[in-house]
Amino acid sequence: MTNEWQAETLAVRAGSEHTAFGENSEAMFLTSSFVFENAAQAAARFGGQEPGNIYSRFTNPTVTMFQNKLAALEGAESCVATSSGMAAILAAVMGVCSAGDHVVASRSIFGTSVQLFGNILKRWGLETTFVSLTDPDEWKAAIQPNTKLFFVETPSNPLTEVCDIPALATIAHEAGVLLAVDNCFCTPALQKPLALGADIVIHSATKYIDGQGRCLGGAVLGKKDVLEPVYGFLRTAGPTMSAFNAWVFLKGLETLHVRMEAHARNALELAQWLEAQSGVARVYYPGLPSHPQHQLAMKQQKYGGAIVSFDVKGGQEAAWRLIDATKLISITANLGDAKSTITHPATTTHSRVTPEARVASGIGDGLVRIAVGLEHVDDLKADLALLR
Ligand SMILES: *Cc1c(COP(=O)(O)O)cnc(C)c1O
Repeated sequence: MTNEWQAETLAVRAGSEHTAFGENSEAMFLTSSFVFENAAQAAARFGGQEPGNIYSRFTNPTVTMFQNKLAALEGAESCVATSSGMAAILAAVMGVCSAGDHVVASRSIFGTSVQLFGNILKRWGLETTFVSLTDPDEWKAAIQPNTKLFFVETPSNPLTEVCDIPALATIAHEAGVLLAVDNCFCTPALQKPLALGADIVIHSATKYIDGQGRCLGGAVLGKKDVLEPVYGFLRTAGPTMSAFNAWVFLKGLETLHVRMEAHARNALELAQWLEAQSGVARVYYPGLPSHPQHQLAMKQQKYGGAIVSFDVKGGQEAAWRLIDATKLISITANLGDAKSTITHPATTTHSRVTPEARVASGIGDGLVRIAVGLEHVDDLKADLALLR
């Protein structure tokens, strides 16, 4: 039945289960363990002969409802929820790769993901080659006999570059490699990577799935056989999602589509306004015709998303002056919140990147990133009046 529902209906209705009390809002099961009727049932649950909950590190009904709802939205066979977005990336890699394997990752990924692949996983014998998000030839050339995984984010942070998911999936599959897409910026409301050929979707639920900046969480989605070892890692190693956070995300998903449309509408209008301001040198937003991959972005995602970056004239000094002049927009690096946020990537999220690497990746000293929230766009423009 759920397969016939539209996405908006799935967001509100899919995955919900109800107890004998008949509650309409999903219950939050704050319990670490589950009680058995007798010793034989305990044995059958542990032995896997009888399905059911045992312990909340393994499964929890509230977390299961969240997983089923998100799986319905992404069109995935399977979903496992994690304690954060980083835990989701770690679990995906632990499930798919072993020591001695090789990963090819886009250079334009979340800074902490670069640290995870480039430093931590490297110490455990997993090598990663970083390549350009937008150049398929670099991906082809980086493949080795031991390559197991391609890892991308699209659109990228903070420059909103877009990669051709179907083209990259073809390159990966010809080499027997899995393609993982971090779909945090678009969410399934705007982009469905599995339908475009990706094998794994990763989320930081902390962002738009929550939508109001409250809880940390994440998820890995894909086919059952790909997800089985990912789940095996999670239930054993422990970075699973808490019932409380799952309940917050369940509520967040119900409004995902209306929120993402409103975010994207605000972002497009702000991006158009920014392009016309004398203090702005360049705007990066996939929804603008001036974006180098505008056509591709509009083909594989609905709307341009809600992240708008721009170069101000006058470098770091002008960028900081603009940020410090805001009274409404929050000065914080988080995104995916109803509250708009403003960041100077060169001195915050990307400050650990060497100045040379920063210049090479196009993150200049005058670059400012805004995660456009749900305030009225005229108030956001007024808050950025220094650019006029
Ligand atoms: C925030 C973020 C992450 C990490 O998620 P956490 O929930 O903070 O661990 C991963 N990928 C992207 C694109 C992000 O924006």
